[in-house]
Amino acid sequence: VKGTGKITAADPESLREINKTVTKRWNDKKDSEFRNYGTAILVESANEGGQFPTRNWRNTYFEGYESLTPGMMKHWITGNQLSCPHCIIRCTHSYKTEDPSNPGLEVESTPEYETFGMCGGNLGINDAQTVFQLNYLADDLGLDTISSGSAIGFTMDAFEKGILEENEIGFPARFGDGEAALKLMRMIAHKEGIGEILAKGVRQAAIEIGRGSEKLAVHVKGLEAAAWDPRGKKGLGLSYATADVGASHLRGWPQTGEKPESSALDVIESMVIERDTKILTDSLIVCHFSWNFPLSREEKFRLLNSATGLDYDDARVSLFGQRIETLIRLFNINEGITREDDVIPHRFWDVETIGPSKGMKAFIDQDDFEKSLDSYYEHRGWNKDGIPTKKTIEKLGLSFLVK
Ligand code: SF4
Repeated sequence: VKGTGKITAADPESLREINKTVTKRWNDKKDSEFRNYGTAILVESANEGGQFPTRNWRNTYFEGYESLTPGMMKHWITGNQLSCPHCIIRCTHSYKTEDPSNPGLEVESTPEYETFGMCGGNLGINDAQTVFQLNYLADDLGLDTISSGSAIGFTMDAFEKGILEENEIGFPARFGDGEAALKLMRMIAHKEGIGEILAKGVRQAAIEIGRGSEKLAVHVKGLEAAAWDPRGKKGLGLSYATADVGASHLRGWPQTGEKPESSALDVIESMVIERDTKILTDSLIVCHFSWNFPLSREEKFRLLNSATGLDYDDARVSLFGQRIETLIRLFNINEGITREDDVIPHRFWDVETIGPSKGMKAFIDQDDFEKSLDSYYEHRGWNKDGIPTKKTIEKLGLSFLVK
């Protein structure tokens, strides 16, 4: 939408009042670790929960995690607290890298949890400065740290298993080798050597390499999994499997601390609520943290209704979420997506052998996964093939999209 007119809120007074209350409440939280380190504070709890990606998802617990915790970051943080425009949370800092080609270089912004997961534990790297350099390099080269970290972990795994030879990579690429990780990151960005294949993502790389490497490619629908292992959280695997884009951490997962030692059917309702909430957040184009941390659910509705003059509540958000997800599902079906694509990667079916998630798979078994998928489709008003029913399409006012 473009225009030159002024945007007015339906109830500016109420909007100002909520803004004032929430800003004060957040600013009074002087001891917020999130303000100091952002999502990096999650490394320890993810590891303790047996959800931390370790050596291309071989494990869910990284013995070297302590080197990746906020205490280790302090050394390089330069003190300049940064934020996205107008955000009261200000969750990041500038930091110094020890990149030998740029001594003393000060850059924005400190690595997120996902980067510590995918470029730290997932590569077996227990050195925060190397993760800082990978983070800076990815930003500078325009790469995503989840996907590039996954591609590097896939390469190291394939090398250690003898699937990829040293002469195919150009050097030995073992877990824990920071120099190899930095080289691979550059090769991916410049599509040099094996980087040309890796730049296509792990799904396509595994297809081109073959030799059993498919089992090492951790993705759903071609999107590399985010840094949370579903063997440590019940229902997370279902979120990855059913998410429109693939294994994203931004499609809502159940509010539970339980491990997948019992059926995921118990948490589907919670997952639907969380997914609908995420759909609303994304539709508003607001940051998940600035929306969720300072505001209660009631305040979110007041804020939304004061701005729009509409009448949002839980029921309306639920209908809104179902409508958007069904719309995207119809788009995906048109692009050839079927139930066969709503799966989890091979590695999440391997039984974890160490740490807090020892003995866990992402679901108790395949039958539980299939039943959970059926139930999720049913909650959404889709049939057993994952296709929205005529009744659902009509109820949601989407009939104009279907012939
Ligand atoms: S908008 Fe989000 S990411 Fe940006 S500073 Fe605020 S909380 Fe952090």
